[in-house]
Amino acid sequence: MITTESLAELRSTCSELPRPLGLVPTMGYLHEGHLSLVRAARKASASVAASIFVNPAQFGPGEDFESYPRDRDRDLMLLEEEGVDVVWTPREELLYPPAFQTWVHVEDITQRLEGAHRPGHFRGVTTVVSKLFNAFQPDLAFFGQKDAQQVVVIRRMVRDLNFPVEIEVGPIVREPDGLAMSSRNTYLNPAQRQAATVLHRALSSTVEVYADGEREAAALRRRMSEVLAEEPLADPEYVSVADPATLEELEGQLDTALLSLAVHIGETRLIDNMLVGDAELGG
Ligand code: AMP
Repeated sequence: MITTESLAELRSTCSELPRPLGLVPTMGYLHEGHLSLVRAARKASASVAASIFVNPAQFGPGEDFESYPRDRDRDLMLLEEEGVDVVWTPREELLYPPAFQTWVHVEDITQRLEGAHRPGHFRGVTTVVSKLFNAFQPDLAFFGQKDAQQVVVIRRMVRDLNFPVEIEVGPIVREPDGLAMSSRNTYLNPAQRQAATVLHRALSSTVEVYADGEREAAALRRRMSEVLAEEPLADPEYVSVADPATLEELEGQLDTALLSLAVHIGETRLIDNMLVGDAELGG
């Protein structure tokens, strides 16, 4: 496995690797969710690339950029075990040189859900992902459904800017009790970790209600809120029943939907989601 901080070395390595090349972008502190994407990339591509970069531009003021967990050596060991061919670990100064002022901005769909609560977040995401696509020139790029809106936004960006890359989506990998794996789960103390299972309970209970025939958007939203209200340590930021293609909040009778929520447990902000019906993120 080649590990480099250098853009020139990355480019020359990628230009020589057998195609198709699959890319898995990450912020590191890897868990099974990340590794499932690496395995999907391995299956679909002749060569696999990964990036590890905690992207300051996607964190808002007062968010956890400084405290975000990092363990470069362990991450590299795990990626090597998975048979990754090349890993890029760029320095912040390389991606954001002095006087940096060029951004990629996707309009409407970044203003909803996560974007409404984390202003500037998606501008950071789309800018860094554009940089990664320029640097690696991958044929395929793998993202997790865990960050469902990110998938929708990146698919929009790829179409709008004609990036020659196919966006593949991996399912959410969960702990045995249902909690979606996340590098941020390490922030939770034991009581909070237990309380955090309420996100999965709220979503699965709502999926059951849908499976039993409920199609009213407001009723599904209410179900999620009711389950969240049973957990005193959970402070919901939003619950959403949205169109999986446009992310517009649905009203009245629906067919397919993206159920999603953001919940504070103490200082930690967690997100999770499930799709109902025959839906695909980003259409
Ligand atoms: P991150 O390091 O948090 O930026 O995540 C890197 C990639 O892994 C993103 O595409 C995430 O959506 C994906 N990911 C994070 N957690 C999970 C999970 N539990 N299951 C599947 N994919 C995930």
